[in-house]
Amino acid sequence: MKAGVLRRAGEPLHVEDVHLTAPGDGMVRVRIAASGVCHSDLSVQNGAIPQVTPAVLGHEGAGVVVEVGPRVTSLTTGDHVVVSWLAPCRICQFCLGGRVELCEHGIDHAFAEPYGTVNGEPVSCAFGAGTFAEETVVPEAAAVQIDSDFSLERAALIGCAVVTGVGAVVNTADVSPGETAAIVGCGGVGLAAVQGARLSGAALIIAVDRVAAKLEMAVANGATHTVDASLCDPVAAVRELTGGRGADHAIEVVGLSTTIAQTYGMTRRGGTVTVVGAGAFDDQVSIPALSVMVDAKRIQGCVYGGADPARDIPRMVDLSKVGALDLDLLITTRIRIEDVNDAFRAMLAGEVARSLIVFSDPLEEESHV
Ligand SMILES: [Zn+2]
Ligand SMILES: [Zn+2]
Repeated sequence: MKAGVLRRAGEPLHVEDVHLTAPGDGMVRVRIAASGVCHSDLSVQNGAIPQVTPAVLGHEGAGVVVEVGPRVTSLTTGDHVVVSWLAPCRICQFCLGGRVELCEHGIDHAFAEPYGTVNGEPVSCAFGAGTFAEETVVPEAAAVQIDSDFSLERAALIGCAVVTGVGAVVNTADVSPGETAAIVGCGGVGLAAVQGARLSGAALIIAVDRVAAKLEMAVANGATHTVDASLCDPVAAVRELTGGRGADHAIEVVGLSTTIAQTYGMTRRGGTVTVVGAGAFDDQVSIPALSVMVDAKRIQGCVYGGADPARDIPRMVDLSKVGALDLDLLITTRIRIEDVNDAFRAMLAGEVARSLIVFSDPLEEESHV
């Protein structure tokens, strides 16, 4: 089957013929209908996130279960699923404590574990998802069943961008109706966070970015105000929009020390600073030490939207069905797997919220088998 393979960090992906290992104990094979191209894929491609190569990239997809391995109990052939890059074990201290997103074993199957071959060589899959491919093999816990009448193309984005962005606002920041929220960075995850803020009833939703086109997208997604950080000091601008106090909640979706410090600066005393962006290991954030005590802000990291995939993925589907989330607004363009490198370029240029790689309709293909 066709897959987008990273041969070596820093090189473009190659579309190659990958042979998957048959699903083992507790594993399922999923025919992928569509996969979003997330910034973390780019981070694996350029080496910022370490990855054993060769590897199939992609971690935000949806499709149909076509084969189940031994001891799979919750899924059967034909089930529609969203692929989650986290496969919670349900028995570790974090899972038992309700912090499923921190599961000690949630990515044991990712990054290094071989799951097939390419040209006879073992191939692993980034994030344990491998959704830049016509098919993937994932643990049962990483394939979350959704209603079969829901569009698989829209569902693909739920796997990472939507759960992460909406979850950061709803689960981690816990925005209440009438509060103010600033979202720093308006890529796919940031725009999902804007929708999350709208969903939470935030009175003021301030979108911050350096690209005018993304700020326009933010308004379409529900932002009430925009700040172009390429033209002004975003901290001063957000303070001005919030009566000089700063936002009740500020959410960083970029992953740079400078934007994290700005996000801290634009948060009011006692407010929450939620960091969603994936930064680099050697990038140190600098915050005035006195302010940490005096201003009593809560700085919190947020992995995978603080979500439990089994709880939150079907919830995002339900919210989309009633129009409370609009996933179409997050899909800028539909492409084929062969154009994945151009999707990385478009992402770096700030041209897209999400490029969606669409594979052949899995149901249509199934009927031909
Ligand atoms: Zn992602
Ligand atoms: Zn666990």
